[in-house]
Amino acid sequence: MRTQVGIVGAGPAGLTLGRLLELQGIETVIFEARSREYCEHRIRAGVLEQRVADLLREAGVGARMDAEGIPHGGIHLQFAGERHHLDFEELIGRGIMIYGQTEVVKDLTAARLESGLPIHFETPVESVDPETGVIRYAGGELECDVIAGCDGFHGVCRGAVPARMFEREYPFGWLGILAQVAPSMDELVYAHHERGFALLSLRSPQLSRYYVQVAHDEDVAHWPDERVWDELRARTALDGWELHDGPVLEKGVTGMRSYVGEPMQHGRLYLAGDAAHIVPPTGAKGLNLAVNDVRILAEAIVDGGLEHYSGQCLRRVWRAEHFSWWMTTMLHRLPGGDPFDEQLQLSQLRYLTTSETAARSLAGNYTGIETV
Ligand SMILES: Cc1cc2nc3c(=O)[nH]c(=O)nc-3n(C[C@H](O)[C@H](O)[C@H](O)COP(=O)(O)OP(=O)(O)OC[C@H]3O[C@@H](n4cnc5c(N)ncnc54)[C@H](O)[C@@H]3O)c2cc1C
Repeated sequence: MRTQVGIVGAGPAGLTLGRLLELQGIETVIFEARSREYCEHRIRAGVLEQRVADLLREAGVGARMDAEGIPHGGIHLQFAGERHHLDFEELIGRGIMIYGQTEVVKDLTAARLESGLPIHFETPVESVDPETGVIRYAGGELECDVIAGCDGFHGVCRGAVPARMFEREYPFGWLGILAQVAPSMDELVYAHHERGFALLSLRSPQLSRYYVQVAHDEDVAHWPDERVWDELRARTALDGWELHDGPVLEKGVTGMRSYVGEPMQHGRLYLAGDAAHIVPPTGAKGLNLAVNDVRILAEAIVDGGLEHYSGQCLRRVWRAEHFSWWMTTMLHRLPGGDPFDEQLQLSQLRYLTTSETAARSLAGNYTGIETV
């Protein structure tokens, strides 16, 4: 069996690449280890940069996002008992789109199936050969001109690229809940608090997505729903404002990591998305970077210039790495509780809410820098 581009993984990176190449008449085959059901219900990211929302529209998969997604014009920063709004639209003239990764995956999967193109669920790839372009999976082999390694951080492709690794582990994680209750706030709230960081986010007008900072190896069994709500209330409390609770549909702990493997390519194999880099979710960049990688990869496959793929991606990757690290270290309670660090965090937060220049820099990075 042969194809032009073999894609390993049907997450946002693999599915978007399949769609972009389909529109250019390039043949692709997608392999996915998990079931369609599993992929479409795995709760993860939910903030799309405007440029990513635009790309999905241009690729013909933006209709439901435009109907059901929620455009936000900014975020709130909360610290020292005050909540401040950063108005991105006013600062830099663009905002973000709230639309769950689950929904992006559903839209892209539906479009691929409607086009009748090959996508093999529950077919884990066992190995890839960057020299010959062969993908080996349970029960067969596929020869490809190009292999796109879109199989995330725990996939098989990452190990097939001899890369220099840059890593940072954080000594904390996020306990996240998905709750069936209308969000209590109009836009995302990032709260710095002495008990630890909290984030109030959402997935839809009926679904709230809330997080509290916990230890990186926290056992979720220690967090009954009441404890989560109490902690969220303590960390986001504000006079005259109330956090409404509701049934918790999902609960889990995510560790925090920064990781970049350089280069992102070897032979016929090109890594994209979490297979090549990880950011802590504080900057809402993971999904956006994955889509940016495959935009560059699709262009290079169609127009040539694959040799420059890794270098082109890494400019944006490192910008996002820095932004995500900076947001993370500014907003979280740092273990050890050094009072000097604490004052630096508060000073930085105050600067963001009093200096238009500082606020504009955050807004530009958060909504997606245009030129890197
Ligand atoms: C628990 C969690 C919460 C997150 N929350 C946020 C958030 O709030 N905000 C944010 O911006 N980002 C978040 N992220 C990051 C964001 O979801 C990722 O950056 C994004 O999913 C990257 O897309 P991807 O397509 O590169 O990888 P993935 O979405 O990981 O997709 C990779 C796919 O490859 C498949 N696969 C793996 N191995 C194989 C194999 N051997 N053969 C075939 N298929 C294989 C996997 O099943 C998966 O479907 C979160 C990530 C996690 C893990």
